[in-house]
Amino acid sequence: MSVAAPSAVLGKSIIAGLRTDGGDGTVMAVNPATGTQLDPSFGLVSMGQLETATKAAEAAFDTFRSTSPEARAAFLERVADNIDTLGGELTERAVAETGLPAARIEGERGRTVGQLRLFASVVRQGDHVQARVDPAQPDRAPAPRLDIRQRHIGLGPVAVFGASNFPLAFSTAGGDTASALAAGCPVIVKAHNAHPGTAELVGQAITRALDESGLPAGVFSLLFGTGRKIGQALVADPRVKAVGFTGSRTGGLALMKAASERDEPIPVYAEMSSINPVFVLPGILEGDQSQLTDGFIGSMTMGSGQFCTNPGLVFVPEGTDGDRFVDSAAAALSETAGTTMLTSGISEACAAGIEGMEQAPGVSRVATGKPGGTENAPAPALFSTSAAKFADAPALQDEVFGAAGLIVRYRSTAEMVEVAAKLQGQLTATVHCTHDDGSDVQVLLPVLERKVGRILFNSWPTGVEVGHAMVHGGPFPATSDPRSTSVGSLAIHRFQRPVSYQNIPDEFLPSPIQDSNPWKLNRRVDGAVEPA
Ligand code: NAP
Repeated sequence: MSVAAPSAVLGKSIIAGLRTDGGDGTVMAVNPATGTQLDPSFGLVSMGQLETATKAAEAAFDTFRSTSPEARAAFLERVADNIDTLGGELTERAVAETGLPAARIEGERGRTVGQLRLFASVVRQGDHVQARVDPAQPDRAPAPRLDIRQRHIGLGPVAVFGASNFPLAFSTAGGDTASALAAGCPVIVKAHNAHPGTAELVGQAITRALDESGLPAGVFSLLFGTGRKIGQALVADPRVKAVGFTGSRTGGLALMKAASERDEPIPVYAEMSSINPVFVLPGILEGDQSQLTDGFIGSMTMGSGQFCTNPGLVFVPEGTDGDRFVDSAAAALSETAGTTMLTSGISEACAAGIEGMEQAPGVSRVATGKPGGTENAPAPALFSTSAAKFADAPALQDEVFGAAGLIVRYRSTAEMVEVAAKLQGQLTATVHCTHDDGSDVQVLLPVLERKVGRILFNSWPTGVEVGHAMVHGGPFPATSDPRSTSVGSLAIHRFQRPVSYQNIPDEFLPSPIQDSNPWKLNRRVDGAVEPA
């Protein structure tokens, strides 16, 4: 365990270990529950300060990527320990900046340190290096084969944009940062201006861990600035080699454009928008539905609906059983009050999205919840439409970020599957069914596989386990790249690339692929897995 160190929110960026005053204006955090500004003001960095951070990251890259598995894993564990050590100060600040309850922040801290420790275990175990050895075959006919070996290395400095809705787990030391550091990449975080104090506290924990680990301070910087200026400049900086982002589709698309217009285009892993369709099949609607509808409304309104996996779209069959589902969900929603959203901007965007749904042709409101106790706590809302109308209105697929849902009534399995095939890419799809629905499931599953990153049965998509088998990703517009995940140990591969070494003498080879296998890695030798 690391020693507790005094930490404070000073309104300063952290540039390669140095607490730095910004020179380009200021921003203040606002408590969304009260509307009051929170001290101190945060200085926004200049272009010169941004460049200092990226230069330091570039300079630190070779040292950092050469660290042994043990050294890098121990560093990640120190970051986790230091975040734990922040204790109540972190919770208090995050609650004030986000309006989220203390219990939620505490849970998110557990998830954040848990994922740092998970990546430490991944680095120690070493499979992420994907070491391969194809030994020379000098006697092969008609041509001999040279010795060829392969391993994965980090891409280089990574720019991370934290999300407003996960001030810890998807922000400064969140999944993108943890996976990039695990891959051996320095990280420059563009702090989210909705929770700057939280970002500064966590940033200090990372900086302290670097110092305690004897690693270069340039491995991590935290910059306060606006997205349009500093965010864009960060992605355009030639020293940055990849981007991790969670937020709006507009923001993600802007960063994808900036990255592709560089002299050297770079990958952007943006997690953007998803309405997470749920398919309720006829069999599950027979009998008592209260558990099902309570589960739906609970998942839809949880955390004001501010989850990327929020179930915003539910397919329900026409007929009396389907009608009972709508009535029961409407009754449950009517009893549910809104809670404070993360920012006034997000609350206004949610209200506008609900208004848009209200005005959409063929859509009717089936229930309204109770408004919450603050200005930024809109009442949850539930709407209904037919599958035919939904299929003809692509705008109904736009995410309303908040506690709003749309029930789509389908006439037949064929119609449901046809509409499912027209859905945009999603993070998740959920099927509620019984064994009696087996034939419908058989038809639906292959369609869903092509649309989403995660398929669930008889559960709800909110709550994402951080593990080895998790996929939190999916085809566009859920993410910018469907080949990866932003949650779970597989996320490390986003920030790596393979390098192959042909005919290189053993003493010049990197440790993971030397003959003696000094890092004791599982390796694929001539195609066969050879355990360490
Ligand atoms: P956001 O507005 O996309 O902001 C996320 C980060 O990206 C911020 O640091 C922001 O900086 C930066 N950014 C935004 N636009 C940019 C641009 N054009 N160029 C460079 N950087 C840019 O997301 P948010 O503030 O977290 O939430 C707003 C909306 O995002 C929500 O209403 C919701 O629709 C969506 N959202 C979705 C998810 C999800 O998981 N799918 C999660 C959170 C939010 P500045 O703030 O300085 O501009």
